Amino acid sequence: MFEPVIGLEVHVELKTRTKMFCACPVVDSTRAEPNTAVCEICMGLPGSLPAVNAGAIECAVRVALALGSDVAPVSVFARKNYFYPDLPKGFQISQYESPLATGGALSVPGDGQEKRVRIRRVHLEEDTGKLIHRQGESLVDYNRAGVPLLEVVTEPDLRSVEDAKAFSTELRSLLRTLDVTTGDMEKGAIRFEANVSIRPVGVQDFGVRTEIKNLNSFRAMVRAVTFEIDRQSRLAAAGMPVDQETRGWDEVRGETLPQRDKEDAHDYRYFPEPDLPPLRIDETFVERVRRSQPEIPAERRVRFRQNLGLPPHLAAQLAADPRIADTFEAAVAAAPTVPPEKFALWITGEVFGLLNEAGLTVDQSALSPAALAEIVAMVEGDVISPPTGKSLLQRIFREGGSPSQIVEAEGLAQVGDVQEIDRLIAEVLAAHPEQVDLYRGGKTAVSQWLFGQVMRRAGGRAKPSLVAERLSALLSTDQNRRGG
Ligand code: ADP
Ligand code: ZN
Ligand code: MG
Repeated sequence: MFEPVIGLEVHVELKTRTKMFCACPVVDSTRAEPNTAVCEICMGLPGSLPAVNAGAIECAVRVALALGSDVAPVSVFARKNYFYPDLPKGFQISQYESPLATGGALSVPGDGQEKRVRIRRVHLEEDTGKLIHRQGESLVDYNRAGVPLLEVVTEPDLRSVEDAKAFSTELRSLLRTLDVTTGDMEKGAIRFEANVSIRPVGVQDFGVRTEIKNLNSFRAMVRAVTFEIDRQSRLAAAGMPVDQETRGWDEVRGETLPQRDKEDAHDYRYFPEPDLPPLRIDETFVERVRRSQPEIPAERRVRFRQNLGLPPHLAAQLAADPRIADTFEAAVAAAPTVPPEKFALWITGEVFGLLNEAGLTVDQSALSPAALAEIVAMVEGDVISPPTGKSLLQRIFREGGSPSQIVEAEGLAQVGDVQEIDRLIAEVLAAHPEQVDLYRGGKTAVSQWLFGQVMRRAGGRAKPSLVAERLSALLSTDQNRRGG
């Protein structure tokens, strides 16, 4: 039996207004006209000088603090030299020996308990341009060249594909909460490299690892890591060694393939960027960022469990998206008599279903926390039945409006009046004497059917527990009366 060991390198496009070292705007590269957001600095023309984007530094420090990493008072930008057509300068400015931050960890929800995944380093660099290959020609768009990239590297603490997925999901949720990236995977805002090795279960030493490049989505990362664990396990089972190499993910073939020989393994000839001074980050700046940190998903999960009594899986589902967590908390605050877990169940059930179906985020729908609170409070207070609550939610989700006004105007309130329910039951019993006879003859199961008839006659608005109670009372008095 083999155990996988996985470490991830995550590249995050920062949501700054301008690029990392110049004043070009950061544009949506899937929409903007190619090569319109470029200048002499991001194209590396002779004589141009880079200047560091303070907004990117702030984003990086924000992430480092949220991960509990140590922010270095001095870090150094270096040139990573290589040739590729998407790299206009012939080098990428990155941080190598002296990264912006080191250490720290991300707490990831698992089944029941949280897992700590240690962070090795967090550093800043710049993105490359984009090559577009079509019909025998290759085009290049440099709009993305020089966009700030944050790289987060984990220790090899992940032990399964599920771990890798859970870590990535949690990291994206953290980055979105910190508002440092759009997190749009379809647009390549978060990209992965995965380092994978296997070792016999029980063995402490790590096995030889491969590094898989070009993982542009969670799905690609999960598929590639699964494939690679499988490939290495088959090699090991056959007594063959795993080569330490870089492999690429082929989306179409669903395979990882060796990318380059060891012979031409890259020598990037790193050296400190001569046009930039060492990056100094003073304690005052770090403190200022620290004071404006939002609550992170891990903290929110703990609060939802401890203060609101939610079970871990519901706490994790709600805390993963700050907009959902905000909606939940606002609804709880608006209806203090309703147990928070009721809201958690409505949100992760009905509301998630509606959002998925409509392809919307909760702030884009017409559903306000106040309206949600009203609906759930009416269901919990037996004012309306659960099915009425659900259809009301669907309607408010699309059209907005006041749930209590709709209930009032359309007479949707549940019939909770004993006399009215007794009258409905009497009508049903009178209309079905043969079923009443069956019941009297000992086929008590027929009461279920009669219950259904009463609910139908009430148009779904009768309070089910009251109907059940009155029906069994009336059936037995009815029986006594006739029998006696
Ligand atoms: P490099 O810079 O050559 O890629 P690093 O030491 O920075 O090497 O490691 C890169 C990533 O590889 C890290 O995420 C680390 O956790 C992971 N890693 C290191 N050794 C192993 C291993 N034996 N198996 C799996 N992942 C590993
Ligand atoms: Zn530029
Ligand atoms: Mg690497």
